[in-house]
Amino acid sequence: MIPLSVPNLKGNELKYVTEAVEAEWVSTGGSFINKFENNLAEYLNVNQAVACQSGTAGLHLALRLAGVKAGEEILVPTLTFIAAVNPVKYMGAAPVFLDCDESLCIDVDKLEKFCETECTLTEAGLVHNKTGKNIRALVVVHIFGNLADMERLMQVAEKYNLKVIEDATEALGTYYTEGKYDGKHAGTIGDFGVYSFNGNKIITTGGGGMLIAKQDELANKARYLSTQAKNDDLYYIHDEVGYNYRMTNLQAALGVAQLEQLEGFINTKTANYNLYKDKISGIQGLSIMEFRDGTRPNHWFYSLLIDDEKFGMDRDTLLVKLNAMGVQTRPIWGLIHQQKPYLKNDAYQIETANRSINSILNLPCSSNLTSEEVLQVIETIKNLKS
Ligand SMILES: *Cc1c(COP(=O)(O)O)cnc(C)c1O
Repeated sequence: MIPLSVPNLKGNELKYVTEAVEAEWVSTGGSFINKFENNLAEYLNVNQAVACQSGTAGLHLALRLAGVKAGEEILVPTLTFIAAVNPVKYMGAAPVFLDCDESLCIDVDKLEKFCETECTLTEAGLVHNKTGKNIRALVVVHIFGNLADMERLMQVAEKYNLKVIEDATEALGTYYTEGKYDGKHAGTIGDFGVYSFNGNKIITTGGGGMLIAKQDELANKARYLSTQAKNDDLYYIHDEVGYNYRMTNLQAALGVAQLEQLEGFINTKTANYNLYKDKISGIQGLSIMEFRDGTRPNHWFYSLLIDDEKFGMDRDTLLVKLNAMGVQTRPIWGLIHQQKPYLKNDAYQIETANRSINSILNLPCSSNLTSEEVLQVIETIKNLKS
């Protein structure tokens, strides 16, 4: 059995967690939390990072700090994991769904067209003509570790006065290698960036997340809100409604150990990606999706593109057969605008996303996957065909 994506915990995880237990600092205080925040901030080349319970919690904090109010609207992609959208509802705001382009990330042409033709820019910000609601922000997701077109997206966001929240939960380690944002990491370009350390992400703390804010005061505010908005260490004074969103020292101990190995994980994932790509290019009707030019992708997930007719088998048949043969694969998510809680929300010209979801399969991509296993996956696919 070759799993899709499993954690890789062969570094200092046990050592650091043991240290945390021995120090009896297991909860939301302790030295590993600061250390993980500092090490990640350094890796990302930003001033500071705020450790929280999950990527979802980080996204919720980002929306709150972006000033989102109940009744407003937020632009989101429909092709994403639902955790990128649910926090919009937590804020009492409504998502407006946008299409993706061939990169699977938000289609910036359509974003611009939507702002231009469906909205009016007023003193108070962008207003959606159809609903009269204010559109405060945009959530962009760097799907499978692939950077969205941030150069153009930031131009559009600036023009239309939108706050930008980068859901970089899948893209830790991805950065630009040329252009305006040369050297900038996914998650450090917009107003806020959020990472996740859930079990299937490129590094894991069991569960956990990290929030980056362009303004230092907002990062500090995020830390305050994540600890029940407690004003001081002694007296229980609270000036705002906060959350219990702080990461624990145990999670952070895992995080420190995982971050030490991140570049190694990316090297393995990149080598396996190149091997898949090379071998699969020889199979008619199949190809591996590319990552954006001018970036160093983290190669978190590999997307197999299936041309039913040329390959002679559709995606779902291939999925069932591979899983039966012990190769765990997964289809891309169901579109969010078609999920029950979101059926009444606006969706703007969704076309590419509709097409993409039926032709993509994610292949095994763990950071401890060996090249022999990659070749075994390829052989299994070839044998299914013949
Ligand atoms: C994993 C993920 C999240 C949520 O992260 P959690 O840490 O699981 O809360 C959000 N958005 C996307 C696109 C994700 O893949």
